This record gives sequence, structure tokens and C-alpha cells, in this order.
Amino acid sequence: MRILLLSDIHANLEALEACLAAAPSFDLAVNLGDIVGYGASPNEVTSRCRDLGKVFVRGNHDKAATGLLDLDDFNPMAAAAAIWTRDELTSENLEWLRALPQGPVSVEGFPEVQLVHGSPIDEDGYVVSLGDALAPLITLTVPLTFFGHTHLQGGFFASASAADGFRPEYRSIGQAESVALQLKSDTRYLINPGSVGQPRDGDWRAAFALFDTEAQTVHFHRAPYNLKDAQDRINAANLPSRLATRLAAGR
Ligand code: ZN
Repeated sequence: MRILLLSDIHANLEALEACLAAAPSFDLAVNLGDIVGYGASPNEVTSRCRDLGKVFVRGNHDKAATGLLDLDDFNPMAAAAAIWTRDELTSENLEWLRALPQGPVSVEGFPEVQLVHGSPIDEDGYVVSLGDALAPLITLTVPLTFFGHTHLQGGFFASASAADGFRPEYRSIGQAESVALQLKSDTRYLINPGSVGQPRDGDWRAAFALFDTEAQTVHFHRAPYNLKDAQDRINAANLPSRLATRLAAGR
């Protein structure tokens, strides 16, 4: 089975459409949360995700926009975007987002895989460094965890003899590209497909991944998208302009 992994779309419709256009064929789409927040197309993106996937995990921005998370935990820019998103969402989409499940979530038929937004041990925790990853990697009974939240494509692994982090290395800064990772047996992984709509790893392109369960490979992808349309939409919505400008830098 080929599983499309989408995370941190953040209401960026242009980025989501570019990922879907660039994605190879897949059998199942899973979503690691933060469907909304920051971007200016929360209803369009929520509706698209509802049509696309069956397996979801809630993100902190999904919780914030639907009243499940105190906005005191957010910086002013994120809080402003959450309030705008809450006002913008249709009641149907708002209720759907509010009902998204807390991770870890399993994938039917694949007991070796689990899905989380933040850390397997804290749904809002950030797994940025190997130090953050080690505790879950050592204690997990599931060998493969897909996570999001940091907006950094790549991940971490631990075996009996080694533990480290990794990032896919791309050749260009503007083309559609993919990099494959062959999973090894007797190794545990925490893998982040990257952020579709608000990358923060210095690469402006939309990020996603595809997991081939038979070949045991994870294909990391980057897809250029219509940045200007996404930015124009953010500015037209009177969201903080930094949310538009930072898309160009991937920061
Ligand atoms: Zn996010």
C-alpha cells in the first residue's frame, strides 16, 4: 500500500493543490494535523482534506481555532490567525475540526505504524532535536511513527548500535523533487513529512511524503506552488503580513 502523508497544511490551498498534483498515485491519504491556522483558505482546505482522507490527527492550531486550546499559549501572530480562522470557518467545518482525534492514531492493517502531531508522548510537544526524539524512540513499541508540528522535513532513528537525525538533501531550490529513504529492520523511526503550507526548514516549497509499505521506503517530496496567490489571499484577509512574507523564505 502507498500512503500519502500530509501535515501542517495551515489553510494554504495553493500549496495543498501543488502537493496533490505532484504526488505519485496513492491508496490512502493520512493527515497529521494543523489543517488550519496561518493561511487564508481554511474552509477550502478543510473541505479538501475531508474529501481526501480517512485518517486524521488533530494539531494544536486545529484545537486553537475551534476553542479547544487556550490562545494564551500562542504568540500574538498565531493567536490573531486562530481568531480570524474561527470566525471564518463554517459551523460544519468547525465542528468537524473540533472532533478530530488526539494522537497517537493507528492505521488499520499496519500495526507497525502510528501517527501523531507533536510527540508520541505529548501531542503538543516538539520533536526538534535528537534529544527530543530519544525518549520516544527508546520507549516506543511501534517501530514507525509519523509526526508533524515542527514543520521540518526529515526525522530520527534509533537501532541497537546507532541513533541520529536526518534531513532529505535536494539538488534544486525551485523544482519538484523527491528523495527516498529505505527503512531498515530492527530500527525505530520518527519521520516528519514536512509542512505542506508553512515550511520552516528554509525551503519555500510545499513538503509531503509517501510511504510504500511493501518496499519499506519513505519518499520525501518538495513541490513548488503558486506562492503569490497564497500571499495575496493572506494580505486580502488582513491577516498579519508576516504570515505572507515568511512563506517566501520557508521560515
Ligand atoms: Zn503546524
